[in-house]
Amino acid sequence: MTRFDVVIVGAGMAGASLAAELAGQGRVLLLEAEPQPGYHATGRSAAFWTETYGGPAVQPLTSASHALLAAPPPGFAETGFLRPRGALHLAGPAEAAALADFATRFADSGVTLHALDEAAVRARVPRLRAGPWQALWEPSTADIDVAALHAAYLRAARRGGVVLRTGAPLAEARRVAGGWRLVAGGSAIAAGLLVNAAGAWADAVAAIAGAAPLGIRPYRRTMAQLRVEPPAPAALPLVLDIAGRFYFKPEAGGRLWLTPHDETACPPGDAAPEEIDIARALDRFERVADWPVAAVERRWAGLRSFAPDRLPVYGADPACPGFFWFAGQGGFGIQTAPAAARLAAALIHGAAAHPSVAAIDPVRYAPGRASLAG
Ligand SMILES: Cc1cc2nc3c(=O)[nH]c(=O)nc-3n(C[C@H](O)[C@H](O)[C@H](O)COP(=O)(O)OP(=O)(O)OC[C@H]3O[C@@H](n4cnc5c(N)ncnc54)[C@H](O)[C@@H]3O)c2cc1C
Repeated sequence: MTRFDVVIVGAGMAGASLAAELAGQGRVLLLEAEPQPGYHATGRSAAFWTETYGGPAVQPLTSASHALLAAPPPGFAETGFLRPRGALHLAGPAEAAALADFATRFADSGVTLHALDEAAVRARVPRLRAGPWQALWEPSTADIDVAALHAAYLRAARRGGVVLRTGAPLAEARRVAGGWRLVAGGSAIAAGLLVNAAGAWADAVAAIAGAAPLGIRPYRRTMAQLRVEPPAPAALPLVLDIAGRFYFKPEAGGRLWLTPHDETACPPGDAAPEEIDIARALDRFERVADWPVAAVERRWAGLRSFAPDRLPVYGADPACPGFFWFAGQGGFGIQTAPAAARLAAALIHGAAAHPSVAAIDPVRYAPGRASLAG
C-alpha cells in the first residue's frame, strides 16, 4: 500500500492550488474522480476577479490573491492571469438605496468604488433602455484566465512531486492509528492527513470519512453565450445588477456572457442548464438593454457550493482528527484561490502564512466557527 502524508480529494481549483502550495513538503496525492481535473465548477466559471463579489468577508481573500494573479512568480507562469475589465454595479430607478448600502458595506475595505451618474453609465454601457440609471464603478475588476491558472497550479504541483490520480473517486476512508486507510479508484492508500477539496461533494466526502457534514450545499448557476447585434464592444465592463438579477460581460468575437444569477439548490452532479433559466436571463437582459439577441450560441451550468453562512471553510475538523476542510468556495473560488491555498497550507503545516495573507485571520473561515453551528 502506498503511503502519502497528505491526500487531497478533488482536483478542481481548490485541490490543485493547495497541492501546489504543499508540493515539496512531504508526499502528496491529489485524487480526482473524473478522468480530467477541472470538469466541474472550475471549468464552468464566468472567469472574473471582482473584489466585492462574495461580500466584505470574502474580499480580503480576493484582494490578497491579486499579486500572484497579476504577476505570478517566475517559474509558475510566464504571464499574469488577469486582463483589465472593470465592473459596473448598475442601479435602476428606485434602487439608489441598494447602491448606497453596497458602497457602505465596502467603505472600509480599501476597494475603490466610484459613483457614476446617468451619462457616465451610458458612456460605459451602450444600448441601455430608458433610465434613469446610476452605478458604482469598480475599476480593479479583471477577467481571469481560469484554464491557465488551473494548469499552472497542476504543473507546479507535479513539478514539486505531487502525484495526481484521475478517475479515482475516494470510496472509503477509515481512521487508523496515525491517519487513514483509503480506497480510491480501486487502490488502497495510506494517508496521514485527508483534505476535503471536493466542491459540491464536500459533505459527501465528509460522510465517507465519518466526519459530520457542515451543510455545504451546491446551487446551480446558469450561463449563456449570446450573439448580439451589434457585437459587444471589447471594452464593455462586467455589468452587475445591484439587485442581483443578472450580470453580463463581453466575450471574444463580440459575444456576451449572461447569467440570470440563479441559485437553485441541487444535489451534487453534472449540472445542466434549464430552459427556464435561459429564458429568465434573456427576459432580464431585454428589460435593461435594447440590444437584439441574434442567437444563444452556448449554454452551461455549474454548481456553486456554499456553507450556511456563505463563507468558505478552511481548517481542521475539530471533531474528526486528520480531516481538513477546504470547501465552500461559493462563487469566488477562482478569484480567491491563491490566498485560500496559502492560508490552508500554513494551517496544515502549522507554519507562518505567506506574507500576502499574513493579515488575514483564518479563524473566521474555520470549520468550528460559531456561524456554522446548526
Ligand atoms: C457558472 C459559474 C460561474 C462562476 N464564476 C466565477 C467567477 O467569475 N470567479 C470566481 O472566482 N469563481 C466563480 N465561480 C465559482 C468557482 O468556479 C468555484 O468556486 C470553484 O471552481 C470551486 O473549485 P473547487 O475545486 O472547490 O470545486 P470543483 O471545481 O467542482 O472541484 C471539485 C472536484 O472534486 C472532485 N470530487 C468530488 N468528489 C470526489 C471524490 N469522492 N473523489 C475524488 N474527487 C472527487 C470533483 O470531480 C471535482 O473535480 C463560478 C461558478 C459557476 C458554477
